[in-house]
Parts: sequence; structure tokens; C-alpha cells
Amino acid sequence: MPQTKYIFVTGGVTSSLGKGIISASLAKLLQARGYNVTIQKLDPYINVDPGTLNPYEHGECYVTEDGAETDLDLGHYERFLDVPTSQANNVTTGRIYQSVINKERRGDYLGKTVQVIPHITDEIKRMIQLLGSKNKYDIVITEIGGTVGDIESLPYIESVRQLKWELGADNALYIHLTLVPYLAASGELKTKPTQHSVKVLLENGIQPDILVLRTEHELNSDLRRKVALFCNVDLDSVIQSIDVSTIYEVPVLMQKEKLDLTVLRKLKLPVNENIDLESWNKFLIRLKNPKHKVSIALVGKYVELPDAYKSINEAFIHAGAINDCKVDLHLIHSEDIIESNLAEILQGIQGILVAPGFGDRGIEGKILAIKYARENNIPFLGICLGLQCAVVEFARNVLGYDKAHSTEMERKTPYPVIDLMEEQKGISEKGGTMRLGSYACKIKKKSKVYAAYKSELINERHRHRYEFNNTYLDEFEKAGMIATGINPDNNLVEILEIPKHKWFVGVQFHPEYRSTVINPHPIFVDFIKASLE
Ligand code: GLN
Repeated sequence: MPQTKYIFVTGGVTSSLGKGIISASLAKLLQARGYNVTIQKLDPYINVDPGTLNPYEHGECYVTEDGAETDLDLGHYERFLDVPTSQANNVTTGRIYQSVINKERRGDYLGKTVQVIPHITDEIKRMIQLLGSKNKYDIVITEIGGTVGDIESLPYIESVRQLKWELGADNALYIHLTLVPYLAASGELKTKPTQHSVKVLLENGIQPDILVLRTEHELNSDLRRKVALFCNVDLDSVIQSIDVSTIYEVPVLMQKEKLDLTVLRKLKLPVNENIDLESWNKFLIRLKNPKHKVSIALVGKYVELPDAYKSINEAFIHAGAINDCKVDLHLIHSEDIIESNLAEILQGIQGILVAPGFGDRGIEGKILAIKYARENNIPFLGICLGLQCAVVEFARNVLGYDKAHSTEMERKTPYPVIDLMEEQKGISEKGGTMRLGSYACKIKKKSKVYAAYKSELINERHRHRYEFNNTYLDEFEKAGMIATGINPDNNLVEILEIPKHKWFVGVQFHPEYRSTVINPHPIFVDFIKASLE
């Protein structure tokens, strides 16, 4: 069986250069040429996973099918490749140390001093090769978080240095991303930061094979030659990554720069001349030439940071494109909403999404926005906490249970319409203990969601502790809010709808995690369709 090839992606000069997007774009091109590719993210922080991180710190926490709470870059990988990732695709320093310390306690290293080299680096190498080990993938792209030179990323850099040496030069490749800043005063692009960043890599024993230079302006051939010469790389291995209006254009730009061909040549892999990017390009054409526009409000409490709702944002882009429509997303802070400004804030809005979240900050604003959507027949989508707020709103304003609430917000509420799940009751640890990952849901045929999915059995990803309290289900259904999706194994309510309303859907799961360029999520597609009408 052919050996899995490894590509290691590092970044220098600054963070946020788009390593994740470059990795995903390269993977897309290799996939389009017939290779089986996956992408892995190594994160240098000590948290075992980002599940315990506030979205302000690290953006959205992305949940995989197998229930791993992961870095948001995994969302990009899935959206670009349309192939699910798993826990093995995201490894943090915390996870590495946890595993090494567990082994030490078990006595696996008995007699030895446990050290960063070789024990931590061996564990990192093992985690990298885990993905390739079953020969499931032809190519594994491993993105190292952070910036070279950081103390935290040193063990990772050392591990991939060793790994290429062990695997052989044809089986591994280093791609390094840097920034070429533009100095407006002198009108010049500067390569010095790139040279310095490559020097840092060289000090750690790594000679990059390919450099990807992020820039605001075109790099001319003189500048490329200069970088090649000073950084000791081939001229065709100096790749320009110029700013673009949408991340979905980056694969096409990387194709123009022949990044995929250079990679395949260096890894001594055959080149399939037929590159299949047809549906990708069709998506791009629709994305860039919308015929309609729709204004959607995203009501949440982390709206200051666009990355906090990354997957929702992207799901709207996919769903908009397929509806030939530009989605104008209005980020509305739920704490800003009060009864008296509601109509003003939501003026001109054609659809309202209430976001997932935790804790009671801004909760009343969310409930007010839902009331407005329900009473004014404005399409509404509630996701996770968004659904739970819709339940509270309905209980208070339709059933007349004034003090109804979720026990997450009000432990002693007389009407606990949303309550802690039975299996969550004894749990006190916070990390990785929610109801996580993919669960089945059976859908009622006469429903908006059936019209969207066109299927009676679906699987969707979860991340929550609370659920709809089934004691109240009869009352809700008699008053017009119907459970149209139920978990067939444990009867938990997964979807609630108001059939009399134009389009009012609340889902306990997170549809946004499953939306990809090639497969926009049906719930988002129909929500946009309903909002457009
Ligand atoms: N806080 C709610 C719960 O734990 C909702 C979680 C979410 O929106 N992801 O059930």
C-alpha cells in the first residue's frame, strides 16, 4: 500500500494569516485531483480542548460528528472538503500532556525521566501519524497553530522536524506562511519579515519547501526571486496569497499559483490533469452574482466577535448562494434589545435567527426578539439556546406561564419548561461533559423541516446540557407549538415548529456545523427561502 504523505503548515511574522484557509484550499485542490486528504490542527494551548474557552477568547467551538469540541478551523476543513473530521483532527498541548502523564502514572515509562524530548515529541508524532496510520488518507495536512518562535509551539516544530527526517524527504513537506507588509509611505512591499521568519525556522532545523506569502498587493517576479534566493526555496515554491473578498476564492487563487502541482511534484505523486472543481466554481459564480438580497438578524451575545458564530455565518453564505441571494447579516446584541426599541432594531429584517449560547446574559432580549418574530409572522430559526428561548417565550406569552424559564437561568422557576437532562444531573466537571456529537432525529412528515430535509430520519450534532421538558409537551402541542422532530432512542424533543406561522423552527441541535459549500444545509436553505418570500 502506498505510504501516506504528510504536509506540515507553519506560520510566521503574525497570527491570523489564514493558515487554516490555505490548508483547506490546498486540500481542496488535492481532493479535486483525486487524492484522499484530511487536515489536522495542532493547537499549542494547555486546554485539553477549546470546549471550555469563552468564544471571546478563541471564537466558535466547532463540534464534530464523534462529539469532539474542536478549533473552528476544523469547520473550514469540513466546509471546503465536505468530509467529516473527528477528534483525531484536533490535538492540543493539553491533550498531549494529559496522554503522556496518564502513561507515566500507568508505569509505561517506568525507570525513565519523562521529558519534552523524546516523550512529548513522540506523543505529538504519534498523534500526527494516527490519521495516516490506517491508510485511509493519501495525504495528511497538519497545521501548527501559533507563530514560529513562540515558546508554546517549539515541541511541535521539533516533532515535525524529526518526522520528515524519519519519513524521508519525498514523504513530507514543509509549507511556511508569512506576511509581506506594504509600506504605504514608500509604496513598497517588504520581504524582511519573511526572511527573519524563515531564519527562525532554520534555527529549529527546518528548511521550508514552499513559502506562501500573504500580501495586499501583487508580488512581482523580482520580489519573488529575492525571497527564493534569500530563503533558499525554488522560485516556483514562492506562492502569493493575495487578499480576496471571500475565502472560497482562495482554492482558485492557489490553483493559479500552481500550489497543488508544486506540492505533488515535491511529494513525487502523480498528477491527474483533470481537476474537478466544477461544483466549486458554480458555487462561486452564484455567490458573486446574487439576484436578490435578504436581511437577516442574528441575535446573540457574542456579536462583537464575528468568529464566535463562524459556522452560522458560513452556513448563511452557502444557503444564500444556492438561493441566488446575498444574505445581509445584521449582528444584534441581545443585551441591547428592550421592549421599546424592538420594532426599531428589527425594522426591515426579513428573518430572525436566535443563536446558541450559555448563561443568562442577554436572555430577555432574545425572548423579546422571538416574540416579535412569532407575532409578526417573520421567519424564525432558533438554534439550541435559541430553541430553548422560543419555548420559554411560548410558555410565557401563549400558555400564560409568566414565570416560565429554563432551569439553567432560573433554578427555582415554577414552570421549568427547559430542564437539565437526566444524564447531566450528576455531572460536575465542565470539560467534555455535555451531550455532544451526532444523534438521530425522526421527523414528522407534515412539517417545515420535512419539506427541507425530504427525509424522515436525520442525524445532527449536539452541544448542550438542557432539553425541552416533556411534561409540558401536550400543552404546547394543543396551543400550536408542535414537536416535529424527536430522538427515536430517548424521546428528547429535537425540533419544535409553529405550523400556523410562515416559518418558525427551533432546533436543539446545531445544523450550522454540517453546512458545506457543496452541501448547503437544508434548514438554512429553507430559512433563507422563506425569508425571501
Ligand atoms: N445553554 C444551553 C444548554 O446547555 C444551550 C447550549 C447551546 O446553545 N449550545 O442546553
